[in-house]
Formats: sequence, structure tokens, C-alpha cells
Amino acid sequence: MRLGVEAAVVDGELVPGDVELSDDGTLAGYGLASANGRGVAAPGFVDLQVNGFGGVDLLEADTDGYRRAGEALLETGVTSYLPTFISAPEDDLVAALAAVPVIAEGPRILGVHLEGPFLAPSRLGTHPPEARRDPDPALLERLLAAGPIRLVTLAPELAGADALIELLHDHGITVSCGHTNATAEEAEAAFELGVRTVTHLFNAMRPFRHRDPGIAGAALARDDVIVQIILDGVHLAPETARIVWRAATGRLALVTDAFAGAGTGMSNGSYSLGSLEVTFRDGVVRGPDGVLAGSMLTMIDAVRNLHALGVPLAQALEAASTVPARVVGISTVGRLDAGLPADVVVLDDNLRIDRVFVGGEARVVA
Ligand code: ZN
Repeated sequence: MRLGVEAAVVDGELVPGDVELSDDGTLAGYGLASANGRGVAAPGFVDLQVNGFGGVDLLEADTDGYRRAGEALLETGVTSYLPTFISAPEDDLVAALAAVPVIAEGPRILGVHLEGPFLAPSRLGTHPPEARRDPDPALLERLLAAGPIRLVTLAPELAGADALIELLHDHGITVSCGHTNATAEEAEAAFELGVRTVTHLFNAMRPFRHRDPGIAGAALARDDVIVQIILDGVHLAPETARIVWRAATGRLALVTDAFAGAGTGMSNGSYSLGSLEVTFRDGVVRGPDGVLAGSMLTMIDAVRNLHALGVPLAQALEAASTVPARVVGISTVGRLDAGLPADVVVLDDNLRIDRVFVGGEARVVA
């Protein structure tokens, strides 16, 4: 089946021509000659950080909750994601890990992003302090046994964090530095251990200063660390986002850090985020203490926001797909290539979602 598009996004570049899907659900080819093609085919979006969506808090979701969140995510172009659990009591995390569906009807579930609980006490943001833990390999082993963990955010400067990083790498699990007070030197030590990504750069992190650049400066100064950002117009000033893009072109991953209120179409209200009651007003999400507590962002809006900063469309789309897939080392998603599963988002000329395919199956049709 031909998609009838004008161009496709392949490895961050716009390749003119139509795209063809095979009957077996894979992509047959791109760059195919055609007349009157409309719109652009991009790799389905990959979101590394989804706390909730479409009215569902994933920390407390059952199979039906995952189905509803998944349907809402598909509407925003997300074809793969990592359900993300913030710091919570061990029993709650174990229960949430056990509740992750093995086979999902909607977008692909690539595994869980465990954001915490081994975080810096001074950089918790909205994470409940009573759920924070010092590095504890036995606790980590119990969590690993409870469900499909794919990515762990931790603060690398904590005493004993090195052992956790090594343990996770031995299990083939990606480590991301976040909710951290790490200096540049402490960050470099983690990068030396093979850590190659940073969670929501600049947020819940030691601030960048000219003689104390911290982990944010260290990550931007290298060329082998992927920086994840929440580009919702609230978490980062536009100038900051532009600096990040200039320093980290091709290694910037968009994440939403969405909570249950995202994807509901509501502009004001409240939902739970784990044990917290979180309210949103005019696109800003805050916990009871007024601290930013996730976002209302959707991935398609993150793409539009990045493009609006002057980033070429193909590269903005790559930041929502290919680059985040690279973070978790999964090569079968986030790219358009012959033989790969056809997870595709078709955008019209106004960057609205026209169609979404998962494994060659049309799941959203505008
Ligand atoms: Zn966070």
C-alpha cells in the first residue's frame, strides 16, 4: 500500500517521494516516484517519559487504563513509549511494574522508565521525599525482578550509585542521569562508566554556572551524550532550548513528561500523579507545593515547538523518534527503513496528524 506522501523523514533528512508499506506490516520502501503526493511520512514518535495520559495515571493503571492511555497517545503520533514511574514506596512500584501489559493493543510499550527512587535529596522536584532512597542494590534487584525495566534515572553523585550503574548495565538497561546535583566532574565520572544520556536537561538539576557548569554543562560540552528535554514552553525558556539545540544538534531527544491530564483536551483540572494530587491551569502542571509536576505536552506539540525555534522539520521529527529510540538502544523503532516494522506518522502541510500506523496497521485516521 502506498501512503501517497510527498516525502519521508529518513535519518533526519527529508527524502522526496512516496512510501510503500508491505502486507506483512513492514516498510517496503521510500523515495518512490509519484505525482501529487501530499504530506510527510515520519517515523512513529518514541516517548521515553510518560507518567500518564488521556486521564490515566500509569502508576495506578490496570490493563484497561493502559488501553485508554495508549489510544490517546496514538492520537498524538506516539507509536512506542516507556510508562514512567516516579519515586514511590517499594510496594507501589512493584505493583505498578507487575501491572505493565506484556502485549499492548495500542502503541508499543518498550519497557518501564523508572525515574527514581535513587535521586538527590536537593533535586527532587515534585517526587515525594519519603519515597526517595539512597543507592541500594538489593532494592534495585527486587525492582528489576518485578517487571520490564528498560531505563532508570538516578543521581550519579550519590554514594553507591556507581554500583547501581554497573548492575543496570550488566542487565542491559539504560541509565540516565537526572534529579541530580552532580558537578561537571561527577557527571564526567558517570559518563566514564558508560552513561550516555541525561533526563530533562536543566530541570531538577544543578544549575549551569560559568565556573560551575554542573552536569548540564558537562552533557552539552561532550558530543556523545543525548540530552532529553521537555519542550512545552514552561520547563525551558526559548533561548535555553535554542542553546541546547545548537550544542546538541542530532543528540537532542524530545520527551513529554506527560501526566494524566495530558491528552484529555482539558485546559484546567486535577489528576493524581502517584500519591500526589496535581493540578493544571493554562498548560502549567503543579504539585501541592507549587513545584512543576510534569507537563500537559504531547509529542506532536513538542515537534511543533522545536520546529518553531528554527529547527528544520526533519530534524525536529528525528528528535521525537530516532534519537529517543537510540537512548534505549532499540533499533527496530524510531526509523523508517525497508524491512523495519511500519510505525509511521503522516503529517499534513500544517503539521497536523493525518494518519498513524503501528506495524503497518492504520490506528488513527484524521
Ligand atoms: Zn523528573
